[in-house]
Amino acid sequence: MELSYKEKLEAILEKIEEADAVVIGGASGMSAACGFDYYNHSPFFEQYFSDFGDIYNEPSCWKLLYHRYKSHEERWAYMARSGCVMLDLPAGKTYTDLFKLTKAKDYYIITTNQDAQFAKVFDPERIFTIQGDAHWMQCSNRCHDKIYPSDEILHKLNAAIEDGKLPSELVPKCPVCGDVMEPWVKSYIFHYCSQWNREQDKYNKYLIEHQNQKLVFLALGIGSMTPEFIKHPFMNMTYQLPDASMVILNKGEDPVPMEIRDKTICIDGDILKTLEDLVNREKNM
Ligand SMILES: [Zn+2]
Repeated sequence: MELSYKEKLEAILEKIEEADAVVIGGASGMSAACGFDYYNHSPFFEQYFSDFGDIYNEPSCWKLLYHRYKSHEERWAYMARSGCVMLDLPAGKTYTDLFKLTKAKDYYIITTNQDAQFAKVFDPERIFTIQGDAHWMQCSNRCHDKIYPSDEILHKLNAAIEDGKLPSELVPKCPVCGDVMEPWVKSYIFHYCSQWNREQDKYNKYLIEHQNQKLVFLALGIGSMTPEFIKHPFMNMTYQLPDASMVILNKGEDPVPMEIRDKTICIDGDILKTLEDLVNREKNM
């Protein structure tokens, strides 16, 4: 029989409480639930990007990201704005609530998010950003095996934007080959550098170390865009590992596959509210 909402909340808290390790997988729903909407036209877009929206006639960050800019000066102006917004935003409530629920546990995070939200509240040493994030830049040519911190330069560039453009001399260039730099986020030229591989090894090692323990996979805000990176591997491991179980929190979630139904709790709803309810319930227990 399907558990009630309250029973599910209690079962989730119990799972986390009993777990030896918690593997957190977070995707765009975690940020969208806080109003950080990079995909649609929204108050968030109006607040931080309306000047770019007007100049380039695009309705959303997603569209601005893939806009066919006429020059690096234009494209990098948007990149600088977007990166600064991501780095400067406060941590969203989904993230701070999740932290309250898991901070006392042995945890590891894997995320497709590039907006640096997890690192605002969780230990960056325990986060694998599989698609890069706003903290770094790379050479667009991938001419050498290094990525560069972006914080300082993004703020300098953002302050120099005029009419949706940067002065030419400020477009960031690769210190080795002189080609234009690129934010270190997933694209067809994304640099799977040593640093990325080290992070992947660390994450895999964590999974191997804990594979026979009580392991809980939290799949949070993962939609249908890229389930192959986090959700499907979580489901496979939940199915295969003896003491693993899974919690899925997502709006519009598909039915849980039959094979893992008895090891999985799924709440299809607003993740902001679900996490808040979990925190409040934990306090009262
Ligand atoms: Zn280069």
